[in-house]
Amino acid sequence: MKSPLLTIDIISIYKNKLGDLLPLPSRMAKCTPDTYVAIFNIATALAKKGGRLILSDLFRSYDMQAQSHQDYIAGRKKAFSPPPGGSFHEAGRGFDLDLSAIKIPLADFWTIAAEYGVVPIISLPKSNVSEAWHFDCRGSHQLVYQYYIEGKGTNFKPYTAASASAILSIGVNVDSFGENQKQAAIQSCLIRLGKNIGNIDGQIGKKTQKALIEVDIAFDLSNINGMLIQVENLVQQKFPVEFSSPNL
Ligand SMILES: [Zn+2]
Repeated sequence: MKSPLLTIDIISIYKNKLGDLLPLPSRMAKCTPDTYVAIFNIATALAKKGGRLILSDLFRSYDMQAQSHQDYIAGRKKAFSPPPGGSFHEAGRGFDLDLSAIKIPLADFWTIAAEYGVVPIISLPKSNVSEAWHFDCRGSHQLVYQYYIEGKGTNFKPYTAASASAILSIGVNVDSFGENQKQAAIQSCLIRLGKNIGNIDGQIGKKTQKALIEVDIAFDLSNINGMLIQVENLVQQKFPVEFSSPNL
């Protein structure tokens, strides 16, 4: 199956007329099961240190990401926002937080976040740097990131490849794969199962064929749907926390 999105009830920077903080608006308040668990574990750990995890953004639909990118291009939004297909926000795996509320040094927050598989997007813990507020729960898509870092895939930057993989895994289209969304999703699954298929490009070639056979899936180009369901099942068995509702 696809990785589901759960509704999450979490406090946000948005306020009512009395100035009380409100929950994150429902259109943004969706994330994958493993991200859900990570957010609550981080919030709990942070609370013990006197801080609060207050979000300003989480899930973005295709249209919301397109708008965010347009706002950046037009200068209405200062922080860089990529076009649809390149952000973990679109996979329910990226979130933005209110840095003034954490009440601990950013480096210490990074340590807490890392314990729950959540990583920053900037390279040094400087809170005055743009995007210092953005974090990703990459889950199994970290393997795609690593695969591209190692040069096994070359058609995307590692971060873009990993976010495209994460977006496909919730069943949302990524423009760069055109008519071949399912083929690209098969390739994303195979990489996360440890296989080498070359680029994630939606083109089922010899390497993808070989990898499918290695994971015991009958190769049949007339049955892309069937091959996708089978390979998604294998991913679900390997990474169950990305598919099941958490018991918190
Ligand atoms: Zn962000």
